[in-house]
Amino acid sequence: MSILKKAIFLDKDGTLIHNVHYNVDPQKIRLTDGAIEGLKKLIDADYELYIISNQQGVALNYFTEKDLVPVKEKIEEMVSIHGVLISGFYYCPHHTNDNCVCRKPQPKLIKDAAQDHNLDLANSWMIGDMPTDIVAGKKAGCKTIFFDNGLKNDWQFAKDENPDHIVKSLDEAADYILDKNKGY
Ligand SMILES: [Mg+2]
Ligand SMILES: [Zn+2]
Repeated sequence: MSILKKAIFLDKDGTLIHNVHYNVDPQKIRLTDGAIEGLKKLIDADYELYIISNQQGVALNYFTEKDLVPVKEKIEEMVSIHGVLISGFYYCPHHTNDNCVCRKPQPKLIKDAAQDHNLDLANSWMIGDMPTDIVAGKKAGCKTIFFDNGLKNDWQFAKDENPDHIVKSLDEAADYILDKNKGY
């Protein structure tokens, strides 16, 4: 029996990096403030990091799945110089109207990552800046953190969709997660 690992599932646009609508230009990628600090703390605490992203720009023909490769590589490069490893990049290329099984708020991408990498969902966290991120995390059986990036301050969470916590940076998220896990 293999040992299950803890993971952090990260939304990409608006959470790990600043949101630039349908951007696939690596030069325009900027990490959010506190991302490196937070991710380093989580890596040091033996969490693996996975990006979980909706990329309907593919379905809209704004870019191709091939265009996402340099995006992934640029993010990996930006964090790896600080010793942070991203263990996987999972995305849904479909359109909202496709009613696919993988687009967040569906939990499939998170569950796929867990299957592929032996992850302990109950001791893992989904962090994102949209209610759909929170719902996906909850459906997968993870704990959830809402990343309030200040772009929209009137999100309404349905009754059963409240995140476990709300933060303004990934550094703050890491502090909360590590504090919660004291004694583990
Ligand atoms: Mg987002
Ligand atoms: Zn999909």
